[in-house]
Amino acid sequence: MTGNLALLGGEPTTRRTWPRWPRADEGTERILADVLASGRWAISGPFRGRECYERRFAAAFAAFNEVAHCTPTTSGTGALTMALLALGVGRGDEVLVPGLTWVACASSVVNVGAVPILVDIDPRTLAIDASRAREAITDRTVAILIVHPFCALADLDALIALAREHDLPLIEDCAQAHGARWRGGRVGTHGAVGCFSMQQSKVLTCGEGGAVITSDPVLHDRLEQIRCDGRRFSDAPVEGNLELVEVGEVQGRNLCLSEFQAAVLLDRLEHLDDENRHRARRAEELEERLAEVDGVSPLETDDRVTERTYYNFVVRIAPEVFKGNSVDVICQALSAELGTSVNPVYVPLNRHRLLCPWNLPPGDLDEREKTRFDLSRFSLPEAERARRTCLTFVHPALLGDAGTVEEIVRAIKKVQRLAGRLRDLPQQPSTQAF
Ligand SMILES: *Cc1c(COP(=O)(O)O)cnc(C)c1O
Repeated sequence: MTGNLALLGGEPTTRRTWPRWPRADEGTERILADVLASGRWAISGPFRGRECYERRFAAAFAAFNEVAHCTPTTSGTGALTMALLALGVGRGDEVLVPGLTWVACASSVVNVGAVPILVDIDPRTLAIDASRAREAITDRTVAILIVHPFCALADLDALIALAREHDLPLIEDCAQAHGARWRGGRVGTHGAVGCFSMQQSKVLTCGEGGAVITSDPVLHDRLEQIRCDGRRFSDAPVEGNLELVEVGEVQGRNLCLSEFQAAVLLDRLEHLDDENRHRARRAEELEERLAEVDGVSPLETDDRVTERTYYNFVVRIAPEVFKGNSVDVICQALSAELGTSVNPVYVPLNRHRLLCPWNLPPGDLDEREKTRFDLSRFSLPEAERARRTCLTFVHPALLGDAGTVEEIVRAIKKVQRLAGRLRDLPQQPSTQAF
């Protein structure tokens, strides 16, 4: 066999154009034009005689998740912040957080004044390890924040049991799992609240957006007020007047989704099931084909996951099969072969550049709290191992036709075969925060 790796100047495995993300069509344009002409661009604007898009999306997303309540918000970070505030998490409290996830899970905790306690992951799912979580509980623990990462779900049976046993609220961060089901129930409905992000990279997006779902009416009322400066939707709005009425039962903030964003979400939600099915079909084909390739294995599906979704498709590699190259170099080589980005997993949060509570404004931290924020006290060996041995394909790569699966497999085989030539490249793991 001839040819060189694309990263080293050879012909790439494919020159295909990958599916674009985010997606929009005429329906999206129509709904945006409707907002533009409506005279109502925000829930804090005057009532125009019809239900605003924010309310319509809230109802549609609650229905999609088969849950009573949904409060849309600005971002996944906004959703986590609202959930923490609604649950009364504050200064001095501890919240368990997985050690391998996007930084917002821990920084949201920091930004409400509480301390994130980083817990190592279960290597089978890359989600928080329930037995490690148990060991991390102290008398200051007030909540357990879990994430359903990449294309797997956390062990909800064990985590629900743990939360019940210690009478702690469970926060499910579903920013990477819109539509997944555990034992038949949608993610986000198994704990006290479910938090979603609709940021550009997520499988449902309006650029920047988020939502919190809950079945608890009391929590819901708090969430509603927290996100719009302590106001609440009126039961009997009058055309031309503000629809939000002042309540002030909580100290609120402005974390409102605009009507443009809500309209885009309402439109794109109609496509989510189809897109999830499409990605799942490609992912299943890819798993089947990868079974023939040495030294690479996808994450297994837990039987209790009754609907699996794919944000990023994770493949575990045996570095020796790639001649000992670092996962970073292998990702660069695969990205060059495929023309789509293949990435390592996150840098573990105990050494993540963007988690830096010591850089909070002066006055937010006293000396005693500084020691509690010392992240070097957390040991995350499984998160480190995942950082060295897992790579991820972005979800739009799973929206292509069946030929894409073949190309991905060919690219992996090619990089494996020629991996010896990569040894001269810098093998330093990148500290880029994925
Ligand atoms: C994207 C993401 C967030 C943050 O969402 P934003 O909308 O970017 O604020 C939080 N948690 C997880 C697991 C995410 O993937």
